[in-house]
Amino acid sequence: MHGQHSGPYEAGRKTGVASRQGAVMARLQEGFSAPGGRTLANDGNAASASGSPFKGNKPRGQVKCDGTAYARIMTRALLIVDVQNDFTEGGALAVAGGDAVASAVSQLLAEHADDYGVILASRDWHDGDGDNGGHFSPAPDYVDSWPVHCVEGTVGADYDPLLVTDAITHHVRKGQGIPAYSMFEGTAEDGTTAGEILSAHGVTDADIVGIATDHCVRASGLDAIAHGVHLRVLTDLVAGVGEESSQAALAELAHAGAALIESAEAFGSTV
Ligand SMILES: [Zn+2]
Repeated sequence: MHGQHSGPYEAGRKTGVASRQGAVMARLQEGFSAPGGRTLANDGNAASASGSPFKGNKPRGQVKCDGTAYARIMTRALLIVDVQNDFTEGGALAVAGGDAVASAVSQLLAEHADDYGVILASRDWHDGDGDNGGHFSPAPDYVDSWPVHCVEGTVGADYDPLLVTDAITHHVRKGQGIPAYSMFEGTAEDGTTAGEILSAHGVTDADIVGIATDHCVRASGLDAIAHGVHLRVLTDLVAGVGEESSQAALAELAHAGAALIESAEAFGSTV
């Protein structure tokens, strides 16, 4: 799965873009139809604004919607990481700002759900007995071990009620009996993985939001990039455990190729 299309950031600029488009076209020829079939190109400016080292990856002259140059076929996913009661205010592992993130993600969905071909949400979902592979500890170090949280079937594992879930198209659960930070370790009810869901829908681009910046958002974002999507972190829609570790996580994601933008910039005029 990974490596199905070559990393867009590894190849030379034109080669990378061309091979990506080739991969998308190949998928279309195989019969996959990108939901919405949009021909958009709207993240070039975001990458530039963030000071991304990949600025210029998509020269403006080539990225047009008027058909005089190639039209980029894009399907964007929204990745919503672990917006659950145990990670928001009042939860077992409460992250300050978690409730605000839940509300703000709901606002984003109210305004822009239609801009996403796939809306994928994850939940940490641990076994009630055992320590889930050392993930739970009565004396947690808050690095590799944690207080009991997100036990399947408990209120703590539910989505925060401030998150409006109607528009979510796919739900994955992770961490059954094991530590699992990335949503890409999770599976949907039918056993498909997050990566398989993105591939099946021809997802080329993704925005990531949720909790916690320095743990599950970080791990999920890095895996999304490894999967081959252009990733944007909506920095006002994430909340982290530690200030310093969250900044480090954002820097790591940017270094790996993510654009860091605010949600207000995500759908602005860019062409
Ligand atoms: Zn966990």
